[in-house]
Amino acid sequence: VVPVIAIDGPSASGKGTVAARVAATLGWNYLDSGALYRLTALAAQRAGVAWDDEPAVAAIAAGLDVVFAEGSIRLAGEEVEDAIRQEEISSGASQVAVLPSVRAALLFRQRAFCRAPGLVADGRDMASVVFTDAALKVFLTASVEARAERRYKQLMAKGIAARLQPLLLEMQQRDDRDRGRSVAPLQQDANASLLDTTDIPIDVAVARVLDWARA
Ligand code: C5P
Repeated sequence: VVPVIAIDGPSASGKGTVAARVAATLGWNYLDSGALYRLTALAAQRAGVAWDDEPAVAAIAAGLDVVFAEGSIRLAGEEVEDAIRQEEISSGASQVAVLPSVRAALLFRQRAFCRAPGLVADGRDMASVVFTDAALKVFLTASVEARAERRYKQLMAKGIAARLQPLLLEMQQRDDRDRGRSVAPLQQDANASLLDTTDIPIDVAVARVLDWARA
């Protein structure tokens, strides 16, 4: 079997960066499952489909024409890495993510990333739904203040104007929606190791996951 490391956690916890670095170090494949929900929200918006129109959004999720490459995501041939990271699409992603048929449509796509020599997958339900047999499960979190500040700095570094307070509120709303939904709610899996990155730098978090993976 192909080994999987599942890394789940709330938004801006650093799980994406940690997962990508662990994958690069091990030479394994990497799945950013949140990108699939973001792509679905973006494609729906572009098609003029409302984010709560379940059958139409599920059809869009099933038919996504997407190519992932290092640092690049192409939707129908167009580079959309920046477009899917906008706050509006973050919110749209968490709205389409509550729809069971959208989650079902994305399931096989996520499992298709599981190829030799291994996979590091990050998201909300990697341990609980998509890769329940994962060799290592990590729940990566940080205080909401620390997470909002990280997102703020990321945006400023990209030259995108942002304000901390609205960002924090938006993040809390999104986390509440991700935790409170009836399908695949965000929660720490019973077998997952907790990694709180509020007070530790990203390198230390990466090293910790690699230690656990090699144990
Ligand atoms: O991880 P990221 O912030 O990019 O995810 C965007 C949204 O997609 C999340 O707020 C969540 O609602 C949804 N998501 C999900 N399940 C996953 C990954 C992301 O529901 N495995």
